[in-house]
Amino acid sequence: MRFEAFAVENIPLIKKGDDLAQIICERTDVLDGDVIIIASTIVGKAEGRTFSLEGIVPGAEAVEFSKNTRFTPGFIQAVLERSRECLISSPVLLVEMKNGHICINAGIDESNVEGEMLLELPADPDASAEYIGKRIESYTGAQISVIITDTNGRAFKRGQTGVAVGVYRIHPLKDWRGQKDLFGKELKITEEAVADEIAGAANLLMGEGNGGYPVVIIRGLRSRSKDNASVTEMYRSDEEDLIKKSLRYLRDRG
Ligand code: GDP
Ligand code: MN
Ligand code: MN
Repeated sequence: MRFEAFAVENIPLIKKGDDLAQIICERTDVLDGDVIIIASTIVGKAEGRTFSLEGIVPGAEAVEFSKNTRFTPGFIQAVLERSRECLISSPVLLVEMKNGHICINAGIDESNVEGEMLLELPADPDASAEYIGKRIESYTGAQISVIITDTNGRAFKRGQTGVAVGVYRIHPLKDWRGQKDLFGKELKITEEAVADEIAGAANLLMGEGNGGYPVVIIRGLRSRSKDNASVTEMYRSDEEDLIKKSLRYLRDRG
């Protein structure tokens, strides 16, 4: 039982229009079965998703929310425009994005971005993962999986961790239901969040600062490959999600 994880060396600062698949394949060998983990930051940069707050006109809700946060109305407006629903508005914004991803400030980042610019997440991270994955496959002939990650906090525990925000050709969840434990008892509810576990492992090498390691390859894991995989398989439905229900209840009660 063993797998290997290594960061791809010498990735340059990424600019709009860069071919990430080519940049990766020029710097490392890619083998069949590799899982290639890519920080959403560089996917956003390559897709040109940097923006400035200049010219953003805050609406009434953004102005209202800004009174109870350290963020400007313009920034909050940018967050709300990228969100389907705001679950918590103070002291930070916890929002659900269009594909179901729930995170702080719609994943808008200022770290590792040049100057005063902000960076947003890819609009459809599964599509970005597929685009990059298919290109890597065509450059190398290998069949691989891709996970696009971001750093997110979690409920209940301190500390942020790498999580999957988009996947290509990998089962994001491993279903253990129906399998047996050590004593022959049938497992009833255990689904393992494989894509997040891999993202967390990769994040150990990426770090959060100026390391310059936005791409990690995990080799030898024998994760299960799946066509038409989607990170949205991991998001609980509104009905199942007790936390979301509670947050809505608290919000709507004022
Ligand atoms: P996020 O988790 O997707 O928000 O990305 P982070 O800002 O935490 O960065 C993850 C890793 O990628 C860190 O090692 C950064 O130094 C690195 N990184 C971010 N942008 C670039 C870039 O344009 N080029 C390179 N080489 N590394 C970058
Ligand atoms: Mn980020
Ligand atoms: Mn990070």
